[in-house]
Amino acid sequence: MNRCQWCGKVTSGFGMVVLTIKEGEPSQSLCRDCYNEFMANMLGIEDFEDFEKEITFLDCAGTEHFFQIEKIINPTGILWEAKEFISDNQIGYSFEIHQDFEEDPNDALKRLYKKIKKGLSKKFIKREVVQGKELISIKDNVVEGRIEWDDKYNGRAPKFIIDGQEYSLEEFGRILMSCEGLNFRLEIIESSE
Ligand SMILES: [Zn+2]
Repeated sequence: MNRCQWCGKVTSGFGMVVLTIKEGEPSQSLCRDCYNEFMANMLGIEDFEDFEKEITFLDCAGTEHFFQIEKIINPTGILWEAKEFISDNQIGYSFEIHQDFEEDPNDALKRLYKKIKKGLSKKFIKREVVQGKELISIKDNVVEGRIEWDDKYNGRAPKFIIDGQEYSLEEFGRILMSCEGLNFRLEIIESSE
């Protein structure tokens, strides 16, 4: 169970943070609130709490997406995350940005919202029905998404989250077959970029 070893709170969603204060001492499993408070004290910064924890955005098809917003204070800055929890361990859309300590957190949040809106403003996968058959293809020859662990393959094959939806390697492979014979370029991008 995800019970915080400091405050006893049970967390789901974003989960726990493992903190090792001194090398050689057992590490502790903490909720993000306790972890952030600890980090803010250690770094001598304010633990900014005055922000919307839940926010809904519309995508380009008019579908609502419900995001939970959380931050994590790192020694190098603050990571802001917006995640769309489809179930406890399934995440649809996910966006993150990095905030430097000098930046106003409200400005960082504005950047996060902008990133969410941009991410929801277009779709990369096109679904159409041609002669009674569903045809799934790549729109405009570019796909952006997220590479995730697929439990079914235990690390041997990834799954992909595209347009906030899950595709197994095989499903994605089938989509790529609409481009059979063409060349491609693969580029990996940091999540906070
Ligand atoms: Zn806690």
